[in-house]
Amino acid sequence: MRIDVDVERQAALDDPQFASLLAGVPLPMLLIGHDLRVTAANPAAEALFGPGLTGRHYMTQFRQPAIVAAIERALAGGQVSQTRLVLTGPGRDTIYRIHCALQGPRGVSLAFEDISEIEQASIIRRDFVANVSHELRTPLTALLGFIETLRGAARDDPAARDRFLAIMAGEAMRMNRLVADLLSLSRVESEERVRPSERIDIVAVVRSAVMTQRALAEASGVAVGLTAPEGPVSVAADADQMTQVIHNLVENAIKYGGSGGKVQVAVSEDDNNSLLRGPAVSITVQDFGEGIDPIHLPRLSERFYRADAHRSRQKGGTGLGLAIVKHIMQRHRGRLRIESRQGEGSVFTVILPR
Ligand code: ADP
Repeated sequence: MRIDVDVERQAALDDPQFASLLAGVPLPMLLIGHDLRVTAANPAAEALFGPGLTGRHYMTQFRQPAIVAAIERALAGGQVSQTRLVLTGPGRDTIYRIHCALQGPRGVSLAFEDISEIEQASIIRRDFVANVSHELRTPLTALLGFIETLRGAARDDPAARDRFLAIMAGEAMRMNRLVADLLSLSRVESEERVRPSERIDIVAVVRSAVMTQRALAEASGVAVGLTAPEGPVSVAADADQMTQVIHNLVENAIKYGGSGGKVQVAVSEDDNNSLLRGPAVSITVQDFGEGIDPIHLPRLSERFYRADAHRSRQKGGTGLGLAIVKHIMQRHRGRLRIESRQGEGSVFTVILPR
């Protein structure tokens, strides 16, 4: 019996066609013989589990009950099966779907498919739906409450009625903004792989986007300055989307950094930008307000992430402005860079390839 098993294992190892087939598979893949030892492992499997797998009992590597059961089932002539395996790495966990299949007298093959990104995407999707529902529920609950009050206690109180209607209008506008931002986010995402084809003068776009913020700036006691090259600067970009980028950044600078009294917007050209490794146009929006705690910076452009949730809501923010900016820049193969010093203000820079 022992001789037979060894012969069988040797047969798999000596089968050059099988070995080259295995080596050609991009997924980590290995073969476990009927003697429960690993008889072959391709380079991807060795990169994942380390060298020297072959010849070892499979249990020295895989002790998870679900995998053991799947291997035993397959060896007993069972169906092709799939099992989930989580490998804890130094930086992050990797999730594998293991395809386990009987290969006749050779034993059982195991192929490891990395499904971390798929699982991550589905978590992001779930969180997104939960966030949207939560964001909509808050103003809706307020509206329903005020409707109830207007029907009952405040029915014959004109002063209260006016006050409540004003609050209701505010809550309805908040929902309106949220839906508008969600729609623009989904539009930008759906176009993300289509590069903008028209050429625009970015200076003109920035100038007019800044102009439309003047009323908000004045009402907030903030002076908005613009420095830009004299002549036109032509880039391949979507004018509406770039208008939205400038709009969101300048509005944030006024809303959150307005205590500094001024916001400075600048357009500059650069023949060899270090981030884009080539000619670029940078647009910076700088405020001199309170700045942002560095712990928030890496996550600031995530959907619904707010450094100060209470303040954002109070200012009518949706938490989507910077996520929209980031996606627009991705579509343009550009970058969004955020620098901030607490007590000194923040600089938001968008960089476009030229
Ligand atoms: P919001 O709709 O809340 O403004 P954004 O995505 O535009 O959402 O911004 C995310 C968060 O980043 C804001 O809630 C705010 O906390 C912070 N933020 C953005 N711009 C600035 C700024 N110029 N100064 C300080 N904080 C800022």
